[in-house]
Amino acid sequence: MTPLKTYKRIVFCDFDGTITAEETFVGMLKRFAAESYDATEDLLIEGKITLGEAVRRLVESIPSKRYPQVLDYVKDKPIRQGFSELLDFLYFHGVPLMVVSGGLMGSVSAKLAPFQNRILAMYAAEVDAEGDFLRVHSDFESATELVAKTRVMGLYRCEQSIVIGDGITDLNIAMTADLVFARDRLCGYLTEKGKPFIRWEDFFDVCNHLSKRWLAAK
Ligand SMILES: [Mg+2]
Repeated sequence: MTPLKTYKRIVFCDFDGTITAEETFVGMLKRFAAESYDATEDLLIEGKITLGEAVRRLVESIPSKRYPQVLDYVKDKPIRQGFSELLDFLYFHGVPLMVVSGGLMGSVSAKLAPFQNRILAMYAAEVDAEGDFLRVHSDFESATELVAKTRVMGLYRCEQSIVIGDGITDLNIAMTADLVFARDRLCGYLTEKGKPFIRWEDFFDVCNHLSKRWLAAK
């Protein structure tokens, strides 16, 4: 892929449990891949399979005829407060936001359709529902992850990368970011690694922090 222009700042934002107020991807897998969920989780905890393999195994155990319900799952799940305001704030400052998700593109793009014109790009795993069971595909697969978020970040050049996230799939991209907003379990992982971060609860916290920081930089 062609590297894009150099930006002053870019925000890379997770979807599940970050933009959505609850962990919708795991919730969806628990509902639609219920029979294989526990066994797969055990293999993952025992270190016998990677996170990427676990996600693939679970998604690909879902019959294609249930795909419309899979996409519906996220529809009524709430979006965390202040997301729309953060998009307006970033637009005003000319800072692009990318959504980088380890979940499924169909769910992410459907949920974020109302905000599409203020999001520069969305990255997630693609689903093929042509066969009996779903097949998952990602342009950003790594040895351990289905969507290696650092590979998405590598497509862009910027002076300052800003990451907003909440979970384990955000750890690697957060470690390489210049500024990190972390909530929930990501705070613990980053503390363990000694990586500084700003704790946030909703997107108003992110707006407030960035607005103070950017005002001070002027
Ligand atoms: Mg998440």
